[in-house]
Amino acid sequence: MSKKLIYADHAATTPLMQEALEAMLPFVKDDFGNPSSLHGWAKPARKAVDEARAVIARCVNAEPEEIFFTSGGTEADNWVIKGSEGGMLVSSYEHHAVLNAAASETRRGRDVVYVRPKVGNGGGYIMPERLSKVWKEEIGLVSIMTANNEIGTINPIHLLSDFAHKHGVLFHTDAVQAVGHIPIDVREMGVDFLSASAHKFNGPKGIGFLFIRKGVKLEPLLNGGQQENGLRAGTENVASIVGMATALKLNCDRMDKTAEHLENLTLRLRDGIDRIFPDAIYLGDGVAGQLPGFTSVSFLGHPAEGLMHMLDLKGIAVSTGAACDSKNTKISHVLKAVNATNEIARSTVRITLGPENTVADVDVILAALKRILRGV
Ligand code: PLP
Repeated sequence: MSKKLIYADHAATTPLMQEALEAMLPFVKDDFGNPSSLHGWAKPARKAVDEARAVIARCVNAEPEEIFFTSGGTEADNWVIKGSEGGMLVSSYEHHAVLNAAASETRRGRDVVYVRPKVGNGGGYIMPERLSKVWKEEIGLVSIMTANNEIGTINPIHLLSDFAHKHGVLFHTDAVQAVGHIPIDVREMGVDFLSASAHKFNGPKGIGFLFIRKGVKLEPLLNGGQQENGLRAGTENVASIVGMATALKLNCDRMDKTAEHLENLTLRLRDGIDRIFPDAIYLGDGVAGQLPGFTSVSFLGHPAEGLMHMLDLKGIAVSTGAACDSKNTKISHVLKAVNATNEIARSTVRITLGPENTVADVDVILAALKRILRGV
C-alpha cells in the first residue's frame, strides 16, 4: 500500500478545491466564447465574469467595479508599485513581488525608503510609529503586506493606512497570504489598493485580482482592448476567474470553522514540538497573532534544508524559512528583518497546515520530526 502524502506547505500554494474545478470546466470547453463578442456565444462567458466579479467584491466588501482581474499576486503588486507616482515607503519584509518591483523603480530614479518590522518578543509587525521614523515628504505610496508569508504575522492595516492618509498618501497592501484565510474588508482596512492571488485560497494558479478604490487613479497595466475598464487589456481568463470566485466564496463561508480546525491542529503541533524539542524557537507572535495553520519554527543545530528533505523522503511537504529558493542559500530577508541570527534562520522550517489536514496528519509529522531530531 502506498503511504499517504502529507501536504503542509499551504503558504506556498493550496490544492484546487473540487467545487472550483467543477465551476471552471464548462468554460474550459463548451462555453468557450469571448466575453467581448457581440453574438450569443459571448453571453455565458460575460455573465460568468460579471458574476465572479460581484462575488469577489462581496467577499472583501468592495464594489464590483473596484475589482480588476490579474494573472496573480505578482502582477497585482507590480501594477501598483510601477503604476503609482512619487517616492515609496515599503516594509523590508515584503514578498519579492513588491521588493523587486520597488528596486526596479529605484533604478528608474524613484526614491524608496524601507521600514523594518518590530523585532524581539511580540515582534514581526509594522506599527505606525515605525513609519513616522522613516517618513519623507516626497513619499506618494505606502505598501505594507497584510500578513507575512514566512512568519505569518498579521499587520494592523487600518492603523497603517490611516497614517498614510493623514499624510495625504495612497496605501497598498499585499494581502496574498490573507485573502480567503482571515476576514478582509477593504473599507475597514481603509486601503486604496489590495492584491490577492487565487492559488493561495484553493483556487487555480495564474489568476488573482487587484482592488482599486473608486476614484483612485492608477496607470493602465496593459494597453489594448477595453477589458478591466481599459486598465488591464486582454481577453479574460474566464475559467480561472470563475474558479477563483468559487473558491473565495466557499473559503469565506467556511472561514470560522476552518480557523477553529486549524487552531486546534496548530496547538497540537506546537505542543508536540515542544515535547520533542524543548529548545524550539517560534518566529512570529504566537498562534493568536498569526495566520491560521501557520508555524515558523527553528530547530537550532538542525539545518532546515536537510530537515525539509528528510521530511520529504517520508512523504511530508514543508518549506524552509532560510533559503529564498532551492538554489539560493542566502539567509531569508524576512528572517533577517526580524533580527533572527544566521543560526536561527538556517534552522527555520515553515509548516503551514490547511483545511484538509487532520489530527492524524499532525501526529505523523510529529512522529517524523521525533525520529529525525532525536535520531530515534
Ligand atoms: N505576495 C505574497 C505575500 C506571496 O506570498 C506571494 C506568493 O508566494 C505573492 C505575492 C506572489 O503571488 P503569485 O504567486 O500569485 O504571483
